[in-house]
Amino acid sequence: MSESVKRAFEGVKLFPFWLDNPAAPDVERELIGPTTADLVIVGGGFTGLWAAIQAKENDPKLDVVLIEAGKIAYGASGRPGGIISTSVMHGLPNATRVFPKDLDVLERLGQENLDGFKEALVRYGIEADVEWNGEMTVAVEE
Ligand SMILES: Cc1cc2nc3c(=O)[nH]c(=O)nc-3n(C[C@H](O)[C@H](O)[C@H](O)COP(=O)(O)OP(=O)(O)OC[C@H]3O[C@@H](n4cnc5c(N)ncnc54)[C@H](O)[C@@H]3O)c2cc1C
Repeated sequence: MSESVKRAFEGVKLFPFWLDNPAAPDVERELIGPTTADLVIVGGGFTGLWAAIQAKENDPKLDVVLIEAGKIAYGASGRPGGIISTSVMHGLPNATRVFPKDLDVLERLGQENLDGFKEALVRYGIEADVEWNGEMTVAVEE
């Protein structure tokens, strides 16, 4: 790390912002011994948590068990840069490179994904300090 980079990071806490919250709920009790469930979800990141919520939305009576090896949202889900966009492919150039024939579908899914995200924030009253600032793509080479 160069001196200027070190200086820029002076006083910076190198820990994910999202996980550094004293108001975080306590860890749930550990699952010990055998159990039964209608649905078992492995992994408590965004994917697993949303799967659990959707399963309960579809059928509130469903007995759902979610198993997490470490801590909830301690994997990738605790570390995002906080960027929300309509892209499900890390940007149009990447989508064009990988799935050139499916751009329409990818764009539609991306928009549906973002709409669903917005809707869920309202439905669950989640205070996520979201700012809808739009998106800018900058050319970094000719
Ligand atoms: C540095 C970084 C920045 C990012 N920035 C953004 C961003 O700005 N915007 C964006 O949209 N996306 C971003 N992403 C991507 C996004 O965070 C991930 O796509 C998303 O969090 C993946 O969620 P997941 O639930 O699939 O995986 P994870 O969050 O990794 O969850 C998987 C969980 O499964 C658990 N697990 C694994 N195996 C087992 C097992 N056998 N038993 C029990 N539990 C198990 C793990 O402990 C983990 O908690 C970023 C990712 C990173 C790493």
